[in-house]
Amino acid sequence: MKSATKFIHAGAHPDPSTGAIMTPVYQTSTYVQEAPGVNKGFEYARSQNPTRKALEEALAVIENGKFGLAFSSGVAATDAVIKLLAPGDEVVCANDMYGGTYRLFTKVFERFGIVFKYVDTTDVKSVAAAVTEKTKLVWLETPTNPLMNVTDIAAVAAITRPKNILLAVDNTFASPALQNPLDLGADIVMHSVTKYLGGHSDVIQGALIMNDADLREKLYFIQKSCGAVPGPMDCFLVLRGIKTLGVRMKAHCENGAKIAHWLRNHPKVGKVYWPGFEDHPGYAVAKKQMKGFGGMISFELKNDSVEE
Ligand SMILES: *Cc1c(COP(=O)(O)O)cnc(C)c1O
Repeated sequence: MKSATKFIHAGAHPDPSTGAIMTPVYQTSTYVQEAPGVNKGFEYARSQNPTRKALEEALAVIENGKFGLAFSSGVAATDAVIKLLAPGDEVVCANDMYGGTYRLFTKVFERFGIVFKYVDTTDVKSVAAAVTEKTKLVWLETPTNPLMNVTDIAAVAAITRPKNILLAVDNTFASPALQNPLDLGADIVMHSVTKYLGGHSDVIQGALIMNDADLREKLYFIQKSCGAVPGPMDCFLVLRGIKTLGVRMKAHCENGAKIAHWLRNHPKVGKVYWPGFEDHPGYAVAKKQMKGFGGMISFELKNDSVEE
């Protein structure tokens, strides 16, 4: 199936209780039990909700994964991954990444004894050099927010796989339309659903997608035990947002290319960071592992262009 078609149909099954084509918003906390412990698969909405279940299935389908889990924000999804670890465990991560991820690592999890090593992940050798026996996780973001650094996911997976180190990739900036880290050897894909997946600036949400059933069980346990779950209305909105991901990303790629070139030729603009430029250091890797360069761009202003 072509991906644009996949995005429209992912996770969509007629509702079993009514036949509704679109999954309804199950705005309920609790489900009746026929007898203690006997239910229809739903008992309490922190653990299971049918709208969230449909979305989690859709998230798995669009990332070519087996399992999806939805969280109340992108950072809540990241938080769940770090909670797989124990004090003393080490994480190798990028020296440029989303500021909220850096804040979570340095201000929250360092206090619990998790050790984070920040390296230039675009240079795969520096990832290999940072790995020790205590390394349990490599956390990548590619392209990065804000500097649009690109890391070769398959090359990092070649380091982590033989050592049984988990490889997680924040795929927010590429979206599943342009890059599928599980296909490149990652163990966990993380999304700030708030951005391209939601697509309409009306939802805060996060997601994790994986293939391994044990890993899914561990992360599901953290999801229900820590409780950072999204509400059913937000899940409904994201199910709706995902349907247009294909057409939206096509437009983002076209517009991104035009704006990046326009900025580069602007007299008041300095450096422009966009992986679609042939002289961007990550161009070759981006071309190899992404289906398009996306719509995210950052740039510097020349000093004399800032008005006092
Ligand atoms: C926004 C963002 C996040 C955090 O997600 P929230 O939904 O805001 O919690 C993580 N990573 C990247 C790359 C982001 O842009």
